[in-house]
Amino acid sequence: MLDEYGSPLNIHSIGEFHENISSFKRVSDRLNLDLGIYFARKANKCKTFVSEAKKANIGVDTASFQELSDCLDEGLAPEKIVLTAAIKSEKLLELAVNNGIIIMLDNTDEIELLQSVCLKLNKRAKVGIRISGFLFEDALPTRFGIDIEETKKLLIQDFKVEGKYNQLDFQGLHFHINGYSVQQRALSLVRSIQLADELAENGIQTRFIDIGGGYLVNYLESEEEWDEFHTELYRAVLGKSRPITYKNDPLGMYPHNGELLGSPKVYPYYNDHPKDIFLRQIMESKFDCNSKIYEALNSRKIQLRIEPGRSLLDQTGITIAEVMFRKSNSQKDSFVGLAMNRTQLKSSSEDFLLDPIFVSQIKPKEATPFEGYLVGAYCLEQELILKRKISFPWLPAIGDMICFVNTAGYMTHFYESQAHLFDLAKNLFFENEENFDKVRVDKY
Ligand SMILES: *Cc1c(COP(=O)(O)O)cnc(C)c1O
Repeated sequence: MLDEYGSPLNIHSIGEFHENISSFKRVSDRLNLDLGIYFARKANKCKTFVSEAKKANIGVDTASFQELSDCLDEGLAPEKIVLTAAIKSEKLLELAVNNGIIIMLDNTDEIELLQSVCLKLNKRAKVGIRISGFLFEDALPTRFGIDIEETKKLLIQDFKVEGKYNQLDFQGLHFHINGYSVQQRALSLVRSIQLADELAENGIQTRFIDIGGGYLVNYLESEEEWDEFHTELYRAVLGKSRPITYKNDPLGMYPHNGELLGSPKVYPYYNDHPKDIFLRQIMESKFDCNSKIYEALNSRKIQLRIEPGRSLLDQTGITIAEVMFRKSNSQKDSFVGLAMNRTQLKSSSEDFLLDPIFVSQIKPKEATPFEGYLVGAYCLEQELILKRKISFPWLPAIGDMICFVNTAGYMTHFYESQAHLFDLAKNLFFENEENFDKVRVDKY
């Protein structure tokens, strides 16, 4: 396949996508919850996930003209699409309004623009409002959304028949918050339900509350290994043991008076509340003294909507790259050069902390263990595919393969770039999970 399609190669399978969808559905079935699932397309560009979402009868969360028009071309029903784009051009809004797609609004400039688009097209628009200003110890800092109190005023005053945004039909509330705290999600949801109650007192119905994405994936089996990695990184950066990252990179911690402050800025690759467990914990959190959140939603007939991206892609993709060279430098660091670049395995995490799988062609007669760094094709000193030093049972040979696992969510596509005018990686899907020879190239 590498000979035919080039290196690196992203290979996907859809079985797990459907299993991940089912895991969320099992939570809503058990709690008798009206749940709308909207797959956040931004986590992976492949169109196949859109067509599979349609087959599974779930929706898609779109964030650009192309993402939205792909879903329309694919024949998704309007109620199965939501537009959450952070930047909404007039052209994008027109496409959404003309197709009756719900638009999540983030600020008053956007609302003004949408009202004018509606007047121009002589149409009405279905909208949700993205809210913010949730209070925990302090206000949760975010650049997204409109403050809750302002939202309330806006909906009561400006959305009525004689109001300045009278072309807009309010459908529901939306928020997407960073981090993975069950408590923060739960409290934000409680506050949103309270807002829905306040709106109801003013004759405004909230049909849904959309709590966005951000459902964890648990990438690692062993909590012990995860803890040990942190301990070893800490020791190494303080000079108490050999470096385990390139140039002893602290992965986001910073030294201060012989200590290290902060913690590595990495995704919680090991965690004990991924996907459906996270959703269930939020739903079973307290609403008030007498009821839980899911009961509060059910009794008000408010639909819960979620926009999972990463979590629906758990175990749906791998990335394979070919070994091109081996070398060492004067500092005695060893390198394995791969036919790929670091934007093809990159997320907002400081490093991808899953060990790659080494696929060798021949086992040498005498195997001497080897340690080195994986480097890529961009002409930069920082061009490391992984910052961690990787151990191999023996020196990889030219033409051997390095396989990165569980990469479909964000790792392959979100930051991929085409510096040096390299081709983008090809994306393959198995036609049939039993028949590994039959693959199809996904175009996007
Ligand atoms: C990024 C994003 C998502 C998806 O987040 P995941 O962590 O991939 O689940 C959903 N909704 C909005 C508004 C987002 O910005």
